[in-house]
Amino acid sequence: MLIGAGAALGAAAIGWDFVSPSLSATAAGTYARPCGDVRISSTWQDHRNRNPPSGEPGTDYAVPIGTPVRAAANGVIVDRKDTTTTATGRYLALRADDGNYIRYLHLRSSAVLPGTRVVRGQIIAESGASGFGSEGGYGSHVHVSLWIGGTPLQLGFTNSVDFENYVQPEDPVPTHQSTTYAWNGILPLATWTPIPVSANFFSLAESSSLAKETGDLNIYIHAAGVTKGFQIRVIAESLNGSGAVVDTAVQPSLEIPATADTAPNTPTFGVYTLPYFLSGRLRLYSQIRALNAGIKVQRVTVKKNYWLS
Ligand SMILES: [Zn+2]
Repeated sequence: MLIGAGAALGAAAIGWDFVSPSLSATAAGTYARPCGDVRISSTWQDHRNRNPPSGEPGTDYAVPIGTPVRAAANGVIVDRKDTTTTATGRYLALRADDGNYIRYLHLRSSAVLPGTRVVRGQIIAESGASGFGSEGGYGSHVHVSLWIGGTPLQLGFTNSVDFENYVQPEDPVPTHQSTTYAWNGILPLATWTPIPVSANFFSLAESSSLAKETGDLNIYIHAAGVTKGFQIRVIAESLNGSGAVVDTAVQPSLEIPATADTAPNTPTFGVYTLPYFLSGRLRLYSQIRALNAGIKVQRVTVKKNYWLS
């Protein structure tokens, strides 16, 4: 048994801490991209480098026709064009609450009228390929132009700035992991017992000395024979260079009472949730302790969303 009395250490002692995963995002600006984290087929600088330079430089986001287009910021729709004529095709213009002016070009259709107040992330249009008098004047994409302060008529259509410099990057998509193990183990009474996540395997998460891992972890327990209850907790182990455990930190336990149900043999269901951040050589596993005799854990499901860095 690796966990002994008095082995619990402060989290900081082994570099284990709880953080919100959202803290890992780095913000360069506040604007939302129109269609999320998609490929940019032509940058603002690409538009300026064209010969002749683009009459309205912007960022082209390559998306299929019909992709929802979302407002970059809170603001008011101030202009809309519903014909495919000219290079722009159909467009919408947004006056953001910060005073900046944003145009979305080559749309298939717009969902909001001028004068409409919109919020950041609201769907305002469907992407298209409209321009030059046809629905297919361009390859399908959303072109976003940004002017700081005034309108393009005031500032000049070519005097836009690079929208990408004002974008808040999307949070990277986490890796989702889900395992279910039919344990069918009878728990010894009042003894902390490691919870397997597969046959003879107990680790919930593990970080090497080079990588960091941030995530949230949910342990689902279905147990029969629960008349009083059981407890769940997570243990963090710090490993040395050869993989031996040198420290442990025991997290507060969660007590799951028996499910109150008149039907006999109703399983008791418990969930232990843990946001976590691992750096350095660390490993997490969980333990369960029966508060009455004869508890049988039927299955253990572990769901994790995590980011490696
Ligand atoms: Zn473009």
